[in-house]
Amino acid sequence: MKICFGTHNLNKLAEIQKLVGSDIEIVGLDDIGCTEDIPETGSTLEENALLKARYVFDNYHVNCFADDTGLEVDALGGEPGVYSARYAGEPSDSNKNIDLVLDNLSDKTNRQARFKTVISLIIDGDVYYFEGVIEGEITHERTGTSGFGYDPIFLPEGSDLTFAEMSMEAKNKISHRGIAVRKLIRFLQDL
Ligand code: IMP
Repeated sequence: MKICFGTHNLNKLAEIQKLVGSDIEIVGLDDIGCTEDIPETGSTLEENALLKARYVFDNYHVNCFADDTGLEVDALGGEPGVYSARYAGEPSDSNKNIDLVLDNLSDKTNRQARFKTVISLIIDGDVYYFEGVIEGEITHERTGTSGFGYDPIFLPEGSDLTFAEMSMEAKNKISHRGIAVRKLIRFLQDL
C-alpha cells in the first residue's frame, strides 16, 4: 500500500517510515508534486490535521493522512497548543519558541505539560482520526541535541532523559506521534 503523509518535514517522514516498516510505502508532499505550504488556519489540532489531509485528497487525488501536534503547558493555560510552531511569531523558529516557553514559565512551579498529536486519515473520501498523548514536564534549561522542536525541554513522565537526549527509536516508542501512528498503522493493516 502507498499512502501520502501530508508533510514537507523530512524528520517526520523518516520517523514515520521507521515506525511503519516496509508493508506500507510512505510518500511525502514533495514526492507527489505538492510543493506549496498548506494553510493551517484551524483553531484545533483536529481541524488543522483534517485541513491538510483534505487539501491533498481534493487536489492530488491520493489517499492521505496528516498530523498536527501541540505542546500543552498547564501553567500557560494550554499554550502554545495549536500555535506551537509559531508561538514566538513567524517564521517558525524552534529556538525562539523554547525561549518563550522558558521565559513564560520562569515564575511558575507547575511545569506539567503534554504533547498531543492528532492524525486525520482520508481513505477514498472517508475520514478517520487517531490521537496520541504523552505527559511530561518542561525542564528549566535545554538538554540534549537530538530531535527537533521542543524536544530539548520536554522530559517525558518516568524518564530521566529529555526527548532530545533519546535516540529516534527510543522516542518513537513512547512519543505522542508514535502512539498516534501505531493506532493508524493497526487501522491500515486491518483494512
Ligand atoms: P507539527 O504540527 O507537527 O508541525 O508541530 C507543531 C509544532 O510542534 C512545531 O513547532 C514542532 O517543532 C513542534 N513539535 C511537533 N512534534 C514535536 C516533537 O515530537 N518534539 C518536539 N516538538 C515537536
